Formats: sequence, structure tokens, C-alpha cells
Amino acid sequence: MDSPDTLLKLTDIEKIYGSGDAATPVLSDIALEVNTGDSIAIVGPSGCGKSTLLNLIGLLDTPTSGSIHFNGAALDGFNEIERAAFRNRSIGFVFQLHHLLPQCTALENVLVPSLVNSDRSNAPERATHLLERVGLKDRMGSRPSQLSGGERQRVAVVRALINRPKLLLADEPTGALSEEGSASLTGLLLELSAEEKMALIVVTHANAVAQKMDTVLELRNGKLALQDGSR
Ligand code: ADP
Repeated sequence: MDSPDTLLKLTDIEKIYGSGDAATPVLSDIALEVNTGDSIAIVGPSGCGKSTLLNLIGLLDTPTSGSIHFNGAALDGFNEIERAAFRNRSIGFVFQLHHLLPQCTALENVLVPSLVNSDRSNAPERATHLLERVGLKDRMGSRPSQLSGGERQRVAVVRALINRPKLLLADEPTGALSEEGSASLTGLLLELSAEEKMALIVVTHANAVAQKMDTVLELRNGKLALQDGSR
């Protein structure tokens, strides 16, 4: 029986790319339980499967075997349209590169995911509130080229939050930032995760970022384990 706070549960996840002679096993026996409000870092050497795992959790890809439950519901039987709708509603993504639309303002960029959300009536108010919250009150009308790297990444974070996701997935979110920018964005992600009652999963190479999370999990040889010394 799952605890009432269990948001995401991965059971016996295996991922193999290709088949036959070209089969590349990447993940095996992965089990993970994430509760509302958790902050988790996933670390490990390059090529160990961190992005693969994040793509499975984010429903951008499907496991070879194993099951994924979100809020108690099994997602295995979802078709592509149901997966996309679920992803848009329940999961926010932040990547190393901001992927903002260059011709749109910060405010317009933030509103893009709300366009495919049927319940978007208060999206403009929420966008304004969140942009103010992350310190971009005076930059809402600026285009990405007029913003600093840290500011662009904060716009990308707000865009990820616009549909009130329960889970925020961040793949190397500070990879393109200075040390100071990285510390500031990490602090902001943690604050927003508490304020918005979201779980946060961050894939990172940066030890300083990983150590700020409640739990640090290490992916090695296809398996996920608590990093030595992690709480
Ligand atoms: P990481 O994010 O830890 O650097 P990845 O998840 O990107 O690792 O990749 C893990 C392994 O899976 C690598 O060996 C990579 O070459 C392989 N891989 C990733 N995506 C694919 C794919 N679409 N097809 C085949 N192999 C892939």
C-alpha cells in the first residue's frame, strides 16, 4: 500500500535501447518512490543513463519493462495522446538550455504551455505573479536576447510552473550558469518547490547543486542507489 503522500512510484524499471545484437541495456531494477515536497538529485558519470531515467519519469519515453504510477494511477496503459495530456498537466520540465522562443517576450514564453491547457483562465495572472516572484517584474516585456543567462533560465522555470505541475524535472538546469548563478537558481528551485507543493528531481553534474537536495541518488551500472553520506 502506498503512503498517501506518494506522488510517483517506479517499480522494476528496465530500459534497453535497440534489440538483438544492437541491444544496449541502460537501466535495470530501478525502484524509486517520490513524495510530494521531496527534493532529489540524480548524479552519476556521463552516459550512465540519467537523461534516460528522467525521460521515463517525464513520460517522454517508455520503459522496456516495469511500471510507473503517478498519484496512485498506473500510466502503463496510456496512449500517446493521454501521455501528452498528462505530461502537460502534471509535470514541468527545465533543461540546461532555456529553449525560449526568441521572437516572444518573457511573458509570452511563460504562457505557451497554458495554451494547450483547458483550464487556463487565470494563466496571465499566474504568469505575472510568478515572474514577479522570481525577480523579473521589470523584464516581462523583454525578449530572450535582451536577458542574461540567469534571467532566461528563471523565465524557463516559470514556464515550467505555469500549469501547476506536481513534479518538476530539471536536467542539468544550472549547466550553462556561473557558480553564483547556479547557487541562486538552485535556491530558487527549492523555494518554489516548497511554495508550490511540488516534488523536485534534478539531474546534475554539479556537486554543490546535488548536496542542496534532501536526497542524492547515484546511478551506476544501470542501478540507482543512495549516494554514500546522503540523508
Ligand atoms: P547520461 O544522461 O547519464 O549522460 P544517457 O541517458 O543520455 O546518459 O545515455 C545512457 C546510454 O544510453 C548511453 O550509452 C547512450 O549512448 C545510450 N542512449 C541514449 N539514448 C539512446 C537512444 N535513443 N538510442 C540508443 N542508445 C541511446
